[in-house]
Amino acid sequence: MFKKDKVFEKFEKRVWLSSPTMHGDELEYMKEAYTSNWMSTVGENINEVEKKVCDYTGSKYAVALSAGTAALHLAIKTAGINVYGMPKSGANVLDGKRVFCSDMTFAATVNPVVYEGGEPVFIDSEYDTWNMDPKALERAFEIYPDVKIVVAAHLYGTPGKIEELRKIIKAHNAVLVEDAAESLGATYKGKQTGTFGNYNILSFNGNKIITGSSGGCFLTDDKEAAKKVSKWSTQSREAASWYQHEEIGYNYRMSNVIAGVVRGQLPYLDEHIAKKRAIYERYKEGLKDLPLSMNPFDKENSNPNFWLSCLLIDSDAMCKQVRSENDTCYIREEGRTCPTEILEELAKINAECRPIWKPMHMQPIYRMNPFITKNGSGRAKTNAYISGENIDIGMDIFRRGLCLPSDIKMTEDEQARVIEVIRSCFG
Ligand SMILES: *Cc1c(COP(=O)(O)O)cnc(C)c1O
Repeated sequence: MFKKDKVFEKFEKRVWLSSPTMHGDELEYMKEAYTSNWMSTVGENINEVEKKVCDYTGSKYAVALSAGTAALHLAIKTAGINVYGMPKSGANVLDGKRVFCSDMTFAATVNPVVYEGGEPVFIDSEYDTWNMDPKALERAFEIYPDVKIVVAAHLYGTPGKIEELRKIIKAHNAVLVEDAAESLGATYKGKQTGTFGNYNILSFNGNKIITGSSGGCFLTDDKEAAKKVSKWSTQSREAASWYQHEEIGYNYRMSNVIAGVVRGQLPYLDEHIAKKRAIYERYKEGLKDLPLSMNPFDKENSNPNFWLSCLLIDSDAMCKQVRSENDTCYIREEGRTCPTEILEELAKINAECRPIWKPMHMQPIYRMNPFITKNGSGRAKTNAYISGENIDIGMDIFRRGLCLPSDIKMTEDEQARVIEVIRSCFG
């Protein structure tokens, strides 16, 4: 019998990865939208969200939108027009153009490149922050010197090496679209993520650090860009008494009801960050003698928002784990474990966790796209992935990592049980 066969009591109420945490003010602002009858994509809540997001982040302009993905779409479209000019009628802005993108991230970071006809070229991650590797980006510019747009995300609320990335991007006269969907409130050298790029985005999706149930925001210091995004997001109406159109429009504006929720949440952002940090610290302390590490960050220069606490199992503490496209299998072994085993054991006690974002270059939909590592181009062979040898960094973090329950309503006792279950997997 393995030491890990110990049975733990199941939580009656599910412990979530990251669920919405409401405070009461949200309902008041929603009610205000209702009683004033601004049940629309116009209203005081939207104006306040835009103002407060600017105050908090230091961005000059903010445009509240229906989703982070919508914000990314319009950010990438703006970047495309800025770099390549307006396309001919009927053409997409990025038709046939390559765009450098974070590889280990949520698909919403990169899909909008394809909406506009572009081809994502994936840039490998680094081990220090799990974000885009400046060395790989440098290599990518050597291979594709004509690329003019880079889309970079800050994973799990941890700022990437954004200054280094920005220096490289600037040296190649390219523009940066910064995806701060997961990192609202995180700073790099005292500056908020979401203000480093030419065009930047936030998300208020239900599992983010603060939420509107849905929603997103476009951020920029470029006044013209903000005006354009605002116009496009409301169907591109021209100034006329009838519906006059000179440009393609979108229905991407944030609702005033949703904005009420975001408005009510914004004052609690710092409190949420403090609670997320405490969760991270407790995991770090509770797991410190095990052969694993927590998701790392640059302690000197950055303050993450600790949206999700993650762990990475040491290579030599990994049992055999094989993942196909849709399924996974592992061999139980004394003293060793793998993400699949921990996921299964935590599911048994009614706690939610999930694998690391599966890198885009491993996704069937993007399998044919170029992928650049710090050593140049090239994908690992499938058997290398299975054996765990000579694989790229994104693949390796996906293989050995997982996201832990990081809900700010999780009690210390609940977290202690989660930690015990993880510990037992190494037994
Ligand atoms: C959540 C998320 C998005 C998309 O935001 P939505 O508001 O859900 O559309 C984009 N990028 C990253 C990295 C995200 O985590």
